[in-house]
Amino acid sequence: MTRSGAERAVIVICDSLRADLISPETAPFLSELSERAAAFAAHRSVFPSTTRASAASIATGCRPARHGLLGNTMALDEGEGLVCRSAGAPDFRDRMRRATGRTLHVPTLAERLRWHGEDSVSCANVSPGAAYFQDPDGHGWVHHSAGSFGPGRVPIDDPASAGLTKGIAGDRAMTERFCSDVLEERAPSVAILWLSEPDYTGHHAPLGSPQHLAAIAGADALVKQVFETVRRLDPTGEDILFVTGSDHGMETVADSIDLTELLIAAGLKESRESRELVVAPNGTAATLYFADPAGELVGRVARFLAGENWVGEMFAGERLGAAGLPTDTAMQIAVSLAAEDRTNPHGVTGYAPIVQDPSDNESKIGFGQHGGLGPHEQRPFLIVEGGGFEPGERRQPSSLVDIAPTVLRHLHMDHDDMDGRALPHRVSER
Ligand SMILES: [Zn+2]
Repeated sequence: MTRSGAERAVIVICDSLRADLISPETAPFLSELSERAAAFAAHRSVFPSTTRASAASIATGCRPARHGLLGNTMALDEGEGLVCRSAGAPDFRDRMRRATGRTLHVPTLAERLRWHGEDSVSCANVSPGAAYFQDPDGHGWVHHSAGSFGPGRVPIDDPASAGLTKGIAGDRAMTERFCSDVLEERAPSVAILWLSEPDYTGHHAPLGSPQHLAAIAGADALVKQVFETVRRLDPTGEDILFVTGSDHGMETVADSIDLTELLIAAGLKESRESRELVVAPNGTAATLYFADPAGELVGRVARFLAGENWVGEMFAGERLGAAGLPTDTAMQIAVSLAAEDRTNPHGVTGYAPIVQDPSDNESKIGFGQHGGLGPHEQRPFLIVEGGGFEPGERRQPSSLVDIAPTVLRHLHMDHDDMDGRALPHRVSER
């Protein structure tokens, strides 16, 4: 599958790494790279700021309103009413396709490359859902411990991915393979490496704690390893565009809200199992699905939520469009939980409550989480090097959805039908 064209793009994602946690002490390589490459200082995630919705936005250049994956969890009606499902499960893609007739509603980078007969390879050490939604219809190669696929979604034998677990050891093994097998041997037009750190540790330790800082340093070293491989293959930086960033940041969990119970107590939902109104918890955000999206229950629930002090921002009905969410689905209300500007015991600012997820019993209070519109969970980082990018800091807003058009422009492919736009080569460019 070696291609003849010289231009390629390599993307490395450090899941959950907050831009403000990159410093010469915590992440020496990224800190140094941001000085000598194009650094996007006002970079933002999408809403919900969850890894699965973000993965689809990076892959499609579109917000959830257009790509259709509305968070880490989504309610689907598979014939017996709405049920909340985890989009991270290996079978979610098939459930979504059965329930709605399709997966993502717009083409991914992998599909766009396939139109030109070119290959993409993704190596992801995150949930199966986040890995598969980069290329849910099988146009390129996806490597994941839960199963790897080639074009046509043909399962492939992949012992190098089979035993990997989340955390820095798994990330390190995946990076080794990415550098030697993918970058040096196969050389696809687009190669994506998605590290589990510092997300994995951030969910299981306080932000800024020694464990969390070690995870950040570990991810930083792996980005360096990929960058050095890339620049060994292309010393001038003309051919290989190097992109590194995160999908979102994190806030510290302040409290856990049992939203389903509150709705039952307020007389707005029959029972935990009832299907007329279903909550899809998304960390520091939640989406609410209605069996009758045009019914009067939507307004009653919106009025109830407007009076709750843990609700930060609420989007209902037509207002969902302002949050980058669709207005024409069963999901009729989305809330981002109220973020606070407090500092945690390790000097990291930003707290927010989470909506309790019945499928996840671990106590998260004091650890990191994301999903909403809090200022820190909405602060991913983005650095672009090579490919004609002038070094220097960009202050103009950028978003996850700008990555796909930037990659496609580098490959001389059409990119004008996305929500995002190709990022400016020059500092002064608007
Ligand atoms: Zn996460």
